Amino acid sequence: MEKQEENYKIIYIDEEKMDKEENNACKRRKSRVLVTLIIGLLVTCYYIFVVELCIFTVPSQELKATFLVMFHILFLLCMWSYLRVVITPPAVPPETFRLSESDKQLYLSEESPEVQEQILSRAAKNLPLYYNIDSKTPIKYCRKCQFIKPDRCHHCTACDICILKVDHHCVFLNNCVGFSNYKFFLLFLLYVPLLLIFTSAVSLYCSILFWTGQVTNMDSKDSVIALFCMSTMFCIIFCYRYIYEHYSLVLMNDTLLEFNEGIHCKYNPYDLGYRKNWRQVFGNKKRYWFIPIFSSLGDGSSFPLGDAKEDIEKNGAIDCQTSK
Ligand SMILES: [Zn+2]
Ligand SMILES: [Zn+2]
Repeated sequence: MEKQEENYKIIYIDEEKMDKEENNACKRRKSRVLVTLIIGLLVTCYYIFVVELCIFTVPSQELKATFLVMFHILFLLCMWSYLRVVITPPAVPPETFRLSESDKQLYLSEESPEVQEQILSRAAKNLPLYYNIDSKTPIKYCRKCQFIKPDRCHHCTACDICILKVDHHCVFLNNCVGFSNYKFFLLFLLYVPLLLIFTSAVSLYCSILFWTGQVTNMDSKDSVIALFCMSTMFCIIFCYRYIYEHYSLVLMNDTLLEFNEGIHCKYNPYDLGYRKNWRQVFGNKKRYWFIPIFSSLGDGSSFPLGDAKEDIEKNGAIDCQTSK
């Protein structure tokens, strides 16, 4: 009877695991569809702007050239940032954070949480774990990846790996935004509204040309007006929903996940001041700030605390809720 119950338990766990995997695979499929739709939308907008608007509608050759050059610079920066966020693999913890085979066996064979914690504490002794600086916050361990989680590292269920300084998993990008691609994500959020503002202004100008009868070829009228409506709508959504939120988090040195979970609601040990927080993501060299190439500071597994280190030792509080 006991054996039968055990079998049911195993079957139930297996089914639960399969459901989770199926769910994740479904999420990944949906994300791939979304990425294809976004690329399709960008290509359509590109065609309307370049062909219907610039080539068929704008009457002056100088204006045509100016619009095309400006549009292509912004479009290139947008696509470059977008592709870098999508194709850059999320950074995983370095091997030094992996539990050794002997410690892993010891950890798995042990049932007492206290002893397990002791094994982890011993293994993490020489690792730069700031969340454990007061020795009161338990060591975070991912059983699946077999890593002692570095500071600000979380396991993403959709990607099924532990990711350094994870911000969030984005379905529109079919990727996790974390330490390795955070700067590209922020640049994408900056260049998209710039491109949309430019497209919206130029398509409004052309719509006025249609309404005032300054353009004789009316074939492109509908697509130009549609481009104006679409770019204006997306621009408002982007500025309102994303830019303020993400850039204010950069200046506070908080990730979206930490902010949503209220991890630093009382105290943020990583807050180094606006300027230094900005440089943590965009780097020290100003010439690289607005180019989609990696220039973030650090290695993603340890972070400077500055003066905060003394406060933590004094107050013994980093997180206002138990870390996962
Ligand atoms: Zn993990
Ligand atoms: Zn993910």
